[in-house]
Amino acid sequence: MISRIDLRGSLPGDLREVLPRAELDVEAALEKVRPICADVRHRGAAAVRELTARFDGVDLASTRVPADEISRALDELDPAVRAALEESIRRARLVHRDQRRTDTTTQVVPGGSVTERWVPVGRVGLYVPGGRAVYPSSVVMNVVPAQEAGVRSLAVTSPAQKDFGGLPHPTILAACALLGVEEVHAVGGAQAVAMFAYGTEECARADMVTGPGNIWVAAAKRLLKGSIGIDSEAGPTEIAILADETADPVHIAADLISQAEHDVIAAAVLVTTSVQLADAVEKELPGQVAATRHSERITEALSGRQSGIVLVSDIEAGLAVVDAYAAEHLEIQTADAREVAARVRNAGAIFVGPYAPVSLGDYMAGSNHVLPTGGCACHSSGLSVQTFLRGIHVVDYTREALAEAAPYVSALADAEDLPAHGAAVRARFDWEVPS
Ligand code: NAD
Repeated sequence: MISRIDLRGSLPGDLREVLPRAELDVEAALEKVRPICADVRHRGAAAVRELTARFDGVDLASTRVPADEISRALDELDPAVRAALEESIRRARLVHRDQRRTDTTTQVVPGGSVTERWVPVGRVGLYVPGGRAVYPSSVVMNVVPAQEAGVRSLAVTSPAQKDFGGLPHPTILAACALLGVEEVHAVGGAQAVAMFAYGTEECARADMVTGPGNIWVAAAKRLLKGSIGIDSEAGPTEIAILADETADPVHIAADLISQAEHDVIAAAVLVTTSVQLADAVEKELPGQVAATRHSERITEALSGRQSGIVLVSDIEAGLAVVDAYAAEHLEIQTADAREVAARVRNAGAIFVGPYAPVSLGDYMAGSNHVLPTGGCACHSSGLSVQTFLRGIHVVDYTREALAEAAPYVSALADAEDLPAHGAAVRARFDWEVPS
């Protein structure tokens, strides 16, 4: 069901070459989404509605979901799900509120200061996936950091569902209502990203689009990122687990399966120092997979080339492997898990020890679950308040402070052969600044 890679002995120079990873051809998808985005740019809402009919099988009268449908979804929400969403929102708010930034002023010289002022993005579009699975939890993960950052205008979009009268899934609408989101669109895929990037008669242009999605969403974000700000390309989900002989194979198998459940191209990777653990997990998987609802999807994900068990000779080698892999989610299930976790450099989020499974982070840890995938965790972070803020430098110098800096400005301007730069400073004084 799951392949094995034996890296005991010396590790290869470029580990990324040998590690399992989904072959996600976003470049090829770009060719498919280019005409979709161009169509939305030129024909606006009519194009979005036609594309929704083509890809989601729904004829929309308008992309915008009426307000009474949003409140009705909350009225009809199962009380247990409502309680869970409320608790998820409460925990996420605690964590994200602590991420707020305060402005800092640095006195560079007497009379010369630079203030870094944190300003929220004006309007954001938040993508909530809804193809294979629906993700009300992603409403929480997108909306809470945007609200805590102080974003004034936000709109959620999620695919129109044939089975729910062409609206986004009712639990998604209910989550929007709980969070006070009033603008929701029933649009998914590349056309949703284009709708935010260009604006339509039914949806004002946004400055930024965030949220996870499938390959079409990821490709549209890559294509349009000049026209609109994006977060990371949060694509098909990944779990890596670094474990030793102290880990429980039942837990490891359950956690691998939990993420394989997202998508046939989801990745589940176990990196272990213990052949016995690897054997026990392999033995455990078929029974657990057979007993779960989405066993076909999970089997495909676990047996795909993006998933596998990697054997390493010691924890040092294991750390090198997980750093090279840069997983979206990384569990550490070793003796002294905290110490090992503290040495990890690349991961979207780290889950420490036996009682912090990724499922907790998906819904209820307080952390954010919109995280970089495909190795992007080596340069990008997950969604946070910071995603929705821009730091603006405010430069404030007096005449005296500028006079003191003037010779240095002139010297560097001359070195760059940009004499007008120096002249712009000299023009403010009735004396010649030596260059
Ligand atoms: P989705 O909402 O991303 O995509 C559905 C949309 O894709 C549809 O509305 C449709 O318009 C469009 N589409 C479908 N087939 C198409 C085609 N052939 N051409 C063009 N457009 C097409 O939902 P999904 O498909 O379920 O994918 C969700 C993804 O998000 C999964 O891969 C999941 O693992 C991932 N996810 C990632 C994170 C993260 O933080 N990285 C979190 C949650 C979910």
